[in-house]
Amino acid sequence: MTESIYQLRCIGCASIVARDQMPSNFRCPLCGELYEVEYPGWSRGASPTETKSWMPNASALRWLWKERCHSTDPLDQSGVWRFREVLPILADFSQAVTLREGNTPLYSMPRSAKSAGVERLLAKHQGMNPTGSFKDTGMTSALSVARERGYTWVACASTGNTSAAMAAYAARAGMNSLVLIPEGKIAWGKLSQAMDYGSLTCQLRTDFDGCVHVLGEVVKRAPVYLLNSVNPYRLEGQKTPAFEIAEELDWEVPDHVIVPGGNLANCSALGKGFLEMRQLGLTTRVPRISVIQAEGANPLFLSIEQHGGNSLQAVEAQTRATAIRIGNPASWRKAVRILRETGGFCEQVTEAEIALAKAEIGREGIGCEPASAVTLAGLKKLVHQGKVHASESVVLLLTGHTLKDSDYTIDFHRRTLLKPEESVGLESVLASLECGTVTLDASAEAVLRTLEERMSK
Ligand SMILES: *Cc1c(COP(=O)(O)O)cnc(C)c1O
Repeated sequence: MTESIYQLRCIGCASIVARDQMPSNFRCPLCGELYEVEYPGWSRGASPTETKSWMPNASALRWLWKERCHSTDPLDQSGVWRFREVLPILADFSQAVTLREGNTPLYSMPRSAKSAGVERLLAKHQGMNPTGSFKDTGMTSALSVARERGYTWVACASTGNTSAAMAAYAARAGMNSLVLIPEGKIAWGKLSQAMDYGSLTCQLRTDFDGCVHVLGEVVKRAPVYLLNSVNPYRLEGQKTPAFEIAEELDWEVPDHVIVPGGNLANCSALGKGFLEMRQLGLTTRVPRISVIQAEGANPLFLSIEQHGGNSLQAVEAQTRATAIRIGNPASWRKAVRILRETGGFCEQVTEAEIALAKAEIGREGIGCEPASAVTLAGLKKLVHQGKVHASESVVLLLTGHTLKDSDYTIDFHRRTLLKPEESVGLESVLASLECGTVTLDASAEAVLRTLEERMSK
């Protein structure tokens, strides 16, 4: 039934490639750009006259998707495959590899709202996925395609979370996985996950961008399926949080969604989700999608500032937010397109602003990775610049779990994270959030003295 519903179109030259002719590096042989999964009739830009193919009915879909939340079928229990009508990328859905990803919470963030200067702030916590990051939502979709195509090996280059997700889903499917990571530049928790799930893990003496380069050669020469986010099937899973956000808000979309930017696929996946929802008549509007980068890994920010988003120069990436430490993002054109289509902004934030935002989110009882915290730091900037108004409803996308990088958190509270010159101007507010640690004698008196000091503050 799903066989002819989708096609793969190059976002550069608009050529269409047959599914079994897809190059191993997922780049168009004509222009070098990436592909996108397109559904004639209801994808972006489809005209009503094109509606010759299957067009689902909006209210029937809303009802069906909600109904499935009560089902015991593993496919229905997945927050990705629950929406399978809008990602018909498998010939047989029963072959999907799922760990019950998605269905993540949308939290209200009253204190962060106050600190940012907006009335209504929500956080979609994608760190609450099975391996602790949003990568699971894209891995379930792309790895299922790999299995359906008969691959036994999958591979990725990773800053950590992609490898954790890929390793888990490959293990689940009984497949083998190869991980290339930059030596010493990923958080230990993430590396341990890839090991736990049995990946062949190679630490290369290079950065993430160097790993991508090496893997490009490997997939050309060996029968392994590439699962980096250049793989367009990843984005089909990663668009489903947009559906969850809309569903949770009774199909009213927020004014603004803010996403961290690394390799720059996730922002466009979410944008694709919101655009398709409008096309299907599920919603009437599309939120602005804004992308926030770390100042030390800001190639998209520079591209937009200096070249109007028409070209991108790679940078040497440097940030403690390792998940977004990427200098040459593969999907930057997709990101520019979504910023233009939704009227979103691109901002950069400093290491101190990231640390502060992460601590503030933590004080709401919600832990996240440093890369996720750029969203709150970026929102503050956008409010300050008058680009986001106090009355707008905003959703932050928290991309990873706090335990992914506990070293970062501990370094922050031990005051060893930031160099003095990095925190200029923010010293007192940072100090007010640092817990510090004290070592005491094993006596109630010592603890009580410390407690009294804290209570009197
Ligand atoms: C992968 C990742 C990102 C960046 O997403 P892109 O699609 O590469 O832009 C941000 N945060 C976390 C926690 C991630 O794992």
